[in-house]
Amino acid sequence: MIEVKDLTKYYNKFLALDKISFKVSRGEIVGLLGPNGAGKTTTLRLLTGYLKPTSGSIKVKKYNIIDDYLKIKAIMGYLPESVPIYKNLMVYEYLSYVGAIRGIDKKNLLSKIKSVANRCQIKDILEKDIGDLSKGLLQRVGLASVLLHDPEVLILDEPTTGLDPNQILEIRDLIKEIGKKKTVILSSHILSEVEATCSRVIIINKGKIVADGTPSELKEKYLGKTIINLSLKKANFDQVKNCFQGIEEIIAINLIEEKDDTLDIELTLKNDIREKIYNIIKQRDWIILEFSKKKTSLEKIFKEITTEN
Ligand code: ATP
Repeated sequence: MIEVKDLTKYYNKFLALDKISFKVSRGEIVGLLGPNGAGKTTTLRLLTGYLKPTSGSIKVKKYNIIDDYLKIKAIMGYLPESVPIYKNLMVYEYLSYVGAIRGIDKKNLLSKIKSVANRCQIKDILEKDIGDLSKGLLQRVGLASVLLHDPEVLILDEPTTGLDPNQILEIRDLIKEIGKKKTVILSSHILSEVEATCSRVIIINKGKIVADGTPSELKEKYLGKTIINLSLKKANFDQVKNCFQGIEEIIAINLIEEKDDTLDIELTLKNDIREKIYNIIKQRDWIILEFSKKKTSLEKIFKEITTEN
């Protein structure tokens, strides 16, 4: 659906994007993640044709962003970080205005507005002034406005910035819902955001792509290890250590707490050998109170690869 090759952008002498390449397939929700100043907004502006690249190419479907700009614009919806606010307009008027700019036929406009209003759950506020809306509702209106012409690709720059935690959850759900039918690229500097919404993460730092994959692929690649939390009743640390000794895949056995006859430990494994561990425990008198794989957060990866570079 989208193919970016060796994309480079200089602002005068400043290199903001350095030969980045990636592909996005139809139906993916891709998160462009990076610290402030990494080059996210620049990438999105280039993708939407608002900026011209210094070199490199962008193809959307069979179109090239330089030669077929208008065709690409027609199949794209772009929600910038700060949505222009027309405080004195009612939501309905604003959507009509955007629809007119997009060239939507007057006779189709009403049904299109109704349809996006339904989808973005703003049908009850169509007659409210934009100036009276909460940030969450405003972002819904923004999303509705970029969906009006039914684009195949949606580009969203930091779509949850400035929202409160409840509004963030609502907008995330809405993006996921929209992403079932459309290709979405969104940017964020918040890792949990991207992890919660996106099927794929592209991490960008100082104008370069430093990682690209699904959240679980990235975890596997960069963290690699499996950590198990184990809580056993009727066991003591020495017994457990003896029992697990000699298992090649175990990197470390750490004591978390030993209290009364209950033992909490953390096992670090080269790979996921939970079955083997379970079979060993099963042969003992120990009672398993907890046996769980620790969720390794992408936060660690993100911090590591964006601070080292
Ligand atoms: P943020 O999350 O802070 O918006 P970002 O990842 O979106 O960051 P960009 O806005 O793409 O980053 O900026 C990348 C780099 O290019 C930054 O160092 C920024 O200062 C610089 N930059 C962006 N726009 C311009 C411009 N018009 N002229 C000069 N430098 C610019």
